[in-house]
Amino acid sequence: MRSKCYLNFLLVVCIGILFYSCKRSESPSGSFDILITNAKILDGTGAEAFTADLLVRDDSIAFVGDVDERKITVMKKIDADGKILSPGFIDAHAHGDPLVDADFLNFLHMGVTTICLGQDGFSYGSENLTSWMTQIDASGLGVNVLSFIGHSTLRELSGTDFVSVPTESQLASMQEILRQGIQRGAYGLSTGLEYTPGYFAQAPEMTALVQVVGENKGILMSHMRNEDDDQVEKSINELLAQGAFAPVHISHFKVVYGKGAERGRFLLAKLDSARQAGIDVTADVYPYTASYTGIGIVFPEWAKAPNDYKKVKAARRDELANFLRERINKRNGPDATLFGNGDWRGMTLAQVADSLAIPFEDVLIDVVGPEGASGAYFVMNEDLQTVLLQDSLTCISSDGSPTMHHPRGYGSFAKIIRHYVNEKQALTLADAIRKMTYLPASIVGLEKRGAIKVGYKADLLVFDPKEIRDKATYEEPHRLAEGFEYVIVNGRIAKSPDEKENYRYGLFLRKE
Ligand SMILES: [Zn+2]
Repeated sequence: MRSKCYLNFLLVVCIGILFYSCKRSESPSGSFDILITNAKILDGTGAEAFTADLLVRDDSIAFVGDVDERKITVMKKIDADGKILSPGFIDAHAHGDPLVDADFLNFLHMGVTTICLGQDGFSYGSENLTSWMTQIDASGLGVNVLSFIGHSTLRELSGTDFVSVPTESQLASMQEILRQGIQRGAYGLSTGLEYTPGYFAQAPEMTALVQVVGENKGILMSHMRNEDDDQVEKSINELLAQGAFAPVHISHFKVVYGKGAERGRFLLAKLDSARQAGIDVTADVYPYTASYTGIGIVFPEWAKAPNDYKKVKAARRDELANFLRERINKRNGPDATLFGNGDWRGMTLAQVADSLAIPFEDVLIDVVGPEGASGAYFVMNEDLQTVLLQDSLTCISSDGSPTMHHPRGYGSFAKIIRHYVNEKQALTLADAIRKMTYLPASIVGLEKRGAIKVGYKADLLVFDPKEIRDKATYEEPHRLAEGFEYVIVNGRIAKSPDEKENYRYGLFLRKE
């Protein structure tokens, strides 16, 4: 009796061991390109870190688990030594011309392996997307690039330009270029309703275009009509109305001269109730309290194209001066505008006015003009922006480029870890990584990227979060970020501590 019991027990144990070892994925054999051992993996989904090894073969993740090194041959071994291994970051809103700045080192050095271009209503190559993409494929890219079709660009291509209501054939032409664009690989439509000519568009035009976006499974990325505190709700409503036809997304979500965490929570609650009602709405945020754009942002519409600025200046000078004085003061005064290019680069509007001994509104009217400069505008509130950043459906963007004179183009993703995770503890590292990987990938509909899973593309980072530094400042905006030891793009090492940097392993990503 007793020995039978014992045998039964042994049988159960054996079956148990068998079952357990089958369930654990067995260490693979064969040849691989990269082995990363001893890594603390944050897989991008927001899950806690776990320790494992990872194998890359060709451009993809081939295995995650315990690797028996006796069974494999590998070209390159990286001992992560307990450091973080995460997916490469995905920048939901970026700028730059891939035929001019193809290395995109500013992005690579802050851990970004994919950037989303064609933003704010303006896109390159939209008139012949296929040939533009082919040209970029041939010249190579430092990071992966995907693009949206710009709404203002559609207005230009269709001859609609500055007219508020397009003719039937102009509208049909915009729809057709958009439809073809998405079918040839663009991820959706971007708008910049704060800029001309996008500014002139009204609801029926937007509906007609967003319907095309929805039918082709794209997304609407929106630089909203007006981000000022007293206009932002109206702008959100306008966007949510388009959410009936396609997923909608608020680009660089901010409230200009709004203040306080409560204000941020109020706006997030508004988005939440839209979601309850079935609207797919998300947002991205960059981690700085100054915006950056053309100085035209402070001028009234009637002083900008297609109107003749010289004539406006002659006919309505006092009115223009009053407008600019009020608008600048509302936006935290002339100290809060910092010129980023031209003769006055590095000086605030207040400093330029002082040096010329004229009022700041005269500097804007006579010296600069609506198209004469770009600048950084310190118009945001840290408490409010932090609340927007923390929302579970907000991802991270830089809104930066290799050439822009704002630190966000070189620092954003490093600053999230250095400041918002390490110092301020406004985000956990797992959550921050999710906002920079899996979340933006799901928002834009990017497949097989943004997570560490077998079969996913090997866009990977190895880093010690304590070593991450954003070095770019408003004075020196082009200093590269530091601390990302290995940056792997499509299974190739683009940046490593011991080797000369190799780049242009990025690809132009086409929506399937
Ligand atoms: Zn924008």
